[in-house]
Amino acid sequence: MKEFTYVLPRSLPEAEAAAKKPGATLKAAGIDLVDRMKERQFQPTEVVNLLLLQPDLGGITADADGSMRIGALATLAQIAASKDFAAEGYAALREAAGEAATPQVRNRATAAGNVLQQARCWYLRSSELHCLHGKDGPSCLAQVGDNRYHSVLGYHDCVRVHPSNLAPALLALDCEYTTQLAGKQQRRRVADLFPLEPKAQLEEHTLLPGEIVIAFHVKAQPKSARSAYRESREKLSFDWATTAAAARVVMDGGVIQEASLVLAAVAPVPLPRPDAAKLLIGQKPSDELFHRVALRAFADARPLSHNAYKVQVGQAIVREVLHATTR
Ligand SMILES: Cc1cc2nc3c(=O)[nH]c(=O)nc-3n(C[C@H](O)[C@H](O)[C@H](O)COP(=O)(O)OP(=O)(O)OC[C@H]3O[C@@H](n4cnc5c(N)ncnc54)[C@H](O)[C@@H]3O)c2cc1C
Repeated sequence: MKEFTYVLPRSLPEAEAAAKKPGATLKAAGIDLVDRMKERQFQPTEVVNLLLLQPDLGGITADADGSMRIGALATLAQIAASKDFAAEGYAALREAAGEAATPQVRNRATAAGNVLQQARCWYLRSSELHCLHGKDGPSCLAQVGDNRYHSVLGYHDCVRVHPSNLAPALLALDCEYTTQLAGKQQRRRVADLFPLEPKAQLEEHTLLPGEIVIAFHVKAQPKSARSAYRESREKLSFDWATTAAAARVVMDGGVIQEASLVLAAVAPVPLPRPDAAKLLIGQKPSDELFHRVALRAFADARPLSHNAYKVQVGQAIVREVLHATTR
């Protein structure tokens, strides 16, 4: 690991001042960040550790408007176990957080760090290989190499996958997030946190340098809302998803009134599928309907040489998540 300066701010202004220096990077639990530093794939000159900022960035609390605030430093384990998310409308959050990684990782990994972790691609994450998105290679190595875990949808010139469990759940519930930069707070939709065209060499998120995520905001869910998260993976623990989907549905009299569907682990960003979700509106739940929705969700899939399985498995996961929201 290359030498760096370690900064332990005790207030948000101190963290902001440190984070805006060129070469500085923010650290939450460091599970993703330190991994990349150990690999020498990422070599910041200053590491700004946010973990002492629990009063500003921690916890899960209710906002005055009835929405729930998930602090940037809230852990996946806290989200999975939160009584505030016990209702069916929030199940996607509980399930996504509770299925990620391992108990050890979930006890440390933070909400912001999980959503902002770097995309996965074994070529990108190796310091010995030189690829287009890593900025030091001429082409995307995965497109011609071993791409069994890579994208089948929504990619351009780089086929990395976004691995976050929490991100698709936050998107399915149309959550917002607050950041702080230069003393000013801004609130935006989580959907705006990811680039519309996730091309190689561009940032993987839309935060400005030094911008600190303070919290995520989850709208109060009506009693009739149900949500769910489902994923496929090779191992039951210690593994990332090969395909995943989060969905939210509001029903009235057995008929679906509102629906959202977001895919993950199949594209360089978590991928909302509004056209597929629209097929659900005004319909009664049925496996035949969910089959059509699943086909639509993957209609524009462009599988690579080793990952065609993701289309079929992903469609099964979509059906499963929709059954879970309408049981
Ligand atoms: C064996 C294993 C299996 C795993 N399986 C899964 C899985 O199934 N699903 C899954 O989702 N993840 C999985 N992970 C990844 C793990 O969940 C993430 O590495 C972790 O959530 C990152 O959170 P962190 O707090 O450690 O973030 P860090 O590593 O500290 O930070 C990650 C990134 O977020 C930025 N950042 C952090 N906090 C802020 C903030 N407040 N404002 C702005 N930027 C910030 C950092 O600068 C950095 O770029 C797995 C990891 C391991 C080791």
